Amino acid sequence: MTKKAFITGITGQDGSYLTELLLEQGYEVHGSVRRTSTLERSRLAHLYADPRIYNERLFLHYADLDDPTTLRRVLGRVQPQELYHLAGQSHVGLSFEIPETTCEFTAMGTLRLLEIVRDLPEPPRFFHATSSEIFGRPAHSPQTEETPIAPVNPYGCAKGFATQMVRVYRESHGLFMVNGILYNHESPRRGENFVTRKICRAAAAIKLGRQKELSLGDTSAQRDWGHARDYVRGMWLALTHETAGDYVFATGKLHRVQDVIEAAFAAVDLDWQAFVRFDPHFLRPAEPLHLVGDPSKAEAQLGWSATTSFDALIREMTDFEVRSLSNKASEGSA
Ligand code: NDP
Ligand code: GDP
Repeated sequence: MTKKAFITGITGQDGSYLTELLLEQGYEVHGSVRRTSTLERSRLAHLYADPRIYNERLFLHYADLDDPTTLRRVLGRVQPQELYHLAGQSHVGLSFEIPETTCEFTAMGTLRLLEIVRDLPEPPRFFHATSSEIFGRPAHSPQTEETPIAPVNPYGCAKGFATQMVRVYRESHGLFMVNGILYNHESPRRGENFVTRKICRAAAAIKLGRQKELSLGDTSAQRDWGHARDYVRGMWLALTHETAGDYVFATGKLHRVQDVIEAAFAAVDLDWQAFVRFDPHFLRPAEPLHLVGDPSKAEAQLGWSATTSFDALIREMTDFEVRSLSNKASEGSA
């Protein structure tokens, strides 16, 4: 029998890679989308365009995270065996501007979904995309599944609440529920206001004469950056494992924003110093510190590892931007 998976946040970076992976694995894939004023869902466009896939093996359903009646109805109809919960306001910096929306969707939205899952006649296995941001400024590095939750921003607080709720539902109700503690993961499909995409895009645009300079906040900030394609494989491995638990997905290596700048500008043969400016507008009221993960548990139990190096990631992202900006230019002149 064909397995059915349901993805919240299917239109996002991770949702699109996970959809590709699950289709490759023979699943029927369902996803929830929300109503927007444009129908552009660029990360899924290549799948839409394939009549053997769209509405044959891939189905989209309107359901917002703050609409439990609709979510309940859709999940009741689809009856998935696996539910990947990826939807949420995913930008840490913005969570200082819109803390209530962030918590409404990420904290309460997850709790509502847990309640729906608990009530379903055959509850699906549940994956929750949580974040290294739950750890804030941890005393020890690298962090593990046992590191205490102590976030320093509204996004981390919302994810921390949802993470602990997933643990409570797993332990109290005996449900198969997994927290994937995801460290930063990027790709050419990353949102344009995240720092890696912003830098790679700017390096390409400056190279092609489309942009003059690049303004950034704290370039000494450090993150553990991997490739999104690796992280969605981890999600699937965790949900198809024989037991449910929490897993850190990380590369275990720290890089600075400055390293992203140097790698992206080197990829287009430019001297970054001529173009990069500091803008305090991009500073945040508080930064997490030393967020680097120890993926030993995922490696040992799931056979997972991050396969893309930092340099290969930034090179892929910058090359993608050069290609897509060049294509747009030739379309414009055609
Ligand atoms: P994206 O921002 O690319 O995608 C977020 C998805 O959530 C989109 O499909 C978006 O829909 C959907 N969404 C947002 N708000 C709502 C809402 N109110 N109702 C329904 N859908 C909503 O994020 P990523 O794919 O990068 O990340 C996936 C998950 O993993 C997120 O929860 C994120 O917080 C978490 N995470 C990501 C990390 C990373 O480095 N990428 C690191 C740690 C955790 P729409 O397209 O309509 O906006
Ligand atoms: P985050 O880890 O989810 O917050 O991912 P981001 O890509 O948004 O930010 C990573 C780090 O880059 C943070 O420490 C930011 O403060 C830092 N940073 C520096 N300049 C910028 C900028 O212009 N935009 C963003 N998004 N982050 C920046």
